[in-house]
Amino acid sequence: ERTDFISYYHHIIDRFEMHTPKGIHLQRELPKGNYNVWMDKDKMTQVLDNIISNAIKYSPEGGTIKLGVEHKRHHLLISIQDQGMGIAYDKVDKIFERFYRADKARTRKLGGTGLGLAIAKELVEAHHGQIWAKSKEGKGTTIYFTLPLMNQKRRGA
Ligand code: ATP
Ligand code: MG
Repeated sequence: ERTDFISYYHHIIDRFEMHTPKGIHLQRELPKGNYNVWMDKDKMTQVLDNIISNAIKYSPEGGTIKLGVEHKRHHLLISIQDQGMGIAYDKVDKIFERFYRADKARTRKLGGTGLGLAIAKELVEAHHGQIWAKSKEGKGTTIYFTLPLMNQKRRGA
């Protein structure tokens, strides 16, 4: 359905803030105004839950997670940046594969099946968006994805 992405995203972040562990701070960098996207809210919530949960899971105590949205010409660019352990450069692209877990020894105790990002990728692509990651070991990880904007000004509609 047609959704104002920014107000929807504020609600998602509000919900996370109520029970964010480890003194982690969620920093919003969201534009003001209306940006309408056509989306399945339940599925988009699954995408964001997966990505933000990972950012929390792999963040250090007291870390900051930046939640950004930028308006590009025909789409929104959503970014979730953490200050966690990061991912080796040769493994970054593999994290979207089913059952892939970057560091078995280290991630075993953090739990999970390795399906979260594979599902997120499928769902983002079903919305005609793209998803990718940038990461630096020891510095942190940023997950990016895009969502096409609907025609913004249909006056009188
Ligand atoms: P699940 O999401 O199914 O509970 P998971 O979190 O292990 O399990 P994915 O979300 O698919 O699986 O992530 C795949 C792997 O990518 C993770 O196991 C982890 O190694 C790595 N990864 C994902 N997000 C981050 C992040 N923010 N920082 C560091 N590593 C990450
Ligand atoms: Mg996950």
